[in-house]
Amino acid sequence: MVNIHKIPEPLHFFAAVFSKAGYSCYLVGGALRNMVMGKKPSDFDFATDASPEEVIRLFRRVVPTGIQHGTVTVLHKNESYEVTTFRIEGDYSDARRPDNVEYTSDIFEDLKRRDFTINAMAINLETGEFLDPFQGKKDIASRVIRAIGNPAERFNEDALRILRAFRFSAQLSFTIDPETFSGIVDCKEKLYQVSAERIRDELEKIILSPTPSKGLQQMEKAGVLPIVLPELSACTGVQQKGLHQYDVFEHSFYSCDAVPAEKKAVRFAALFHDIGKVETIDYDEIGVVTFYQHEKTSVRLTRNIMRRLKFPRDFEEQVLHLIANHMFHYEDIWTDAAVRRFIAKVGKEYLDDLFLLRRADQYGTFGKPIDPVNLKAFRKHIDKVLAEAHALKIADLAVNGHDLIKIGIPKGPAIGIVLRELLETVIDDPSQNSRPILLTIATNFYKQIS
Ligand code: ATP
Ligand code: MG
Repeated sequence: MVNIHKIPEPLHFFAAVFSKAGYSCYLVGGALRNMVMGKKPSDFDFATDASPEEVIRLFRRVVPTGIQHGTVTVLHKNESYEVTTFRIEGDYSDARRPDNVEYTSDIFEDLKRRDFTINAMAINLETGEFLDPFQGKKDIASRVIRAIGNPAERFNEDALRILRAFRFSAQLSFTIDPETFSGIVDCKEKLYQVSAERIRDELEKIILSPTPSKGLQQMEKAGVLPIVLPELSACTGVQQKGLHQYDVFEHSFYSCDAVPAEKKAVRFAALFHDIGKVETIDYDEIGVVTFYQHEKTSVRLTRNIMRRLKFPRDFEEQVLHLIANHMFHYEDIWTDAAVRRFIAKVGKEYLDDLFLLRRADQYGTFGKPIDPVNLKAFRKHIDKVLAEAHALKIADLAVNGHDLIKIGIPKGPAIGIVLRELLETVIDDPSQNSRPILLTIATNFYKQIS
């Protein structure tokens, strides 16, 4: 058990620097919350009565990360520490950001403007005095997220706090206090005014929490999901056929739960892999529901989501690639060539993630691991094919573009077309992967297309 009155060793340094200069400094935020919960603290946030300029002067290695909000990042022994000057926030005119930041020398004023009781505790680094004016410790014991003061007022000031409530609830497995929850319901429309980046960062924390389904279900219940992820919310009530015991909405977040949190792209892919079912739903001649080519629609909708929320492009690409390739149906009759073609299409580096996605998809379908798509047998076949180390990409061919130029194929798009044809040939029959054979095939093929 962590003793909350025992200041962690690296913080003695900060206690000494601040007190020597005549300032006070408190540990606040997530690290203290973790200590109170008996968990190991990390990501230290400090609050001080020293002004940001004074903080910059006191330390050698500093980055003025959020100087306009009074935050300075101090680097010390390979760790970074966020130091924020005590604040009272000014009027909030647009639910985005406080209009102006006023500093105060009163820690209580600073704690009052924080979001939830469990985030408004402080411990004095020098004296070890523990401040908890809103009974955060009690709410931790009863596992409750409770807004400080009047919930609707606080969510109106900064609607991001709405998502933060679901984020902490999902991360810590806490429930949201009923009054706080109804404040959320009353103010949810204000979320339309919050910047995409801030929404993205909190959503990401919800999706990467131990059990994202809990947060997402609550968000749907509060009417918040239709505002931030309407494409996912629209999956509610879309029924599936046969073995599926959940609707598309439930299936999506149970699949997401089943992916280990450190596999970020797979978690996102699991959450969005079936959102295209809403648009593609149809019924065949005997009345069975179909979702023909839903993965293509899922890709398009997920791209919209990721652009709207400004996710990095390389991350977007990974997620879309997984979604685009999630529908495969291996059967024992697949030839080695068919397996090589599959690996060439999805890319060797994506295989593990794609299998993880399919397993999660199954959990989200049956609530337990069942293997109707022969994943184990498929993986075995893939491993056998990989062990043979035959060519699976253009770089593995016995010839390259320069070789083709030397035999008279002109520089330009023709080279790519011929190389792709050669790869197809070699994937079908690896024994063709030798220079003389490929150069002959290239010459003949180029004649046909030119
Ligand atoms: P984490 O463990 O994720 O870092 P945290 O509680 O430290 O959790 P931060 O986002 O780092 O969360 O914020 C630090 C502290 O600043 C919070 O504990 C809270 O007291 C305060 N805070 C952050 N964002 C807001 C906000 N939008 N409104 C009010 N207070 C906030
Ligand atoms: Mg923090």
